Amino acid sequence: MIASIGPTGEILIMEDISEEEMYDAFTEQAVALETGGADAICIETMSALDEAELAVKAVKDNTGCEVICTFTFERNMSGEYRTMMGVSPEQFAEAMLAAGADIIGTNCGNGIERMIDIVTALHTASPDTPILVHANAGLPKNVNGIDVFPETPGQMAEKVPALIEAGANIIGGCCGTTPEHINAIKRTIGEIK
Ligand SMILES: [Zn+2]
Repeated sequence: MIASIGPTGEILIMEDISEEEMYDAFTEQAVALETGGADAICIETMSALDEAELAVKAVKDNTGCEVICTFTFERNMSGEYRTMMGVSPEQFAEAMLAAGADIIGTNCGNGIERMIDIVTALHTASPDTPILVHANAGLPKNVNGIDVFPETPGQMAEKVPALIEAGANIIGGCCGTTPEHINAIKRTIGEIK
């Protein structure tokens, strides 16, 4: 069973929270998740290296769980991928592996197609590390007050072969994906095998 830990919503350089408090908050979650039966913990939707490092260390130091860490990248005006805090896929890979992550990857973001570029960068930076991808079904559009995610199960599944080719080992879904999306992705992986 894989459990999930998200960001605290705090930024360390703002000094509203200390490193020790943040580490303790992650430790509390990690220990509770392992007690509840988790074999692995996915630290996801991260954008800051210092926060993610504390989370990875908290899980490693205090549980026997495998550690997965995924960051959310956006493509900037120059076509480069960066997190909200300015971190590149290469910087992320290096720092999380140094902190002790077993699996790295990317989640959320703007659709499955852009994940191919991000996975390529991660796989180039660390060819032997397993890579996890949880893409959004695109960015939501507000239609009559309801968030509608534009990518259909078929559109997401279509990109799966290229994602595997780029180096992805574990593929699932983030915001806007439904059991139908996961089913379509699974079917496509089955066909490749
Ligand atoms: Zn998401």
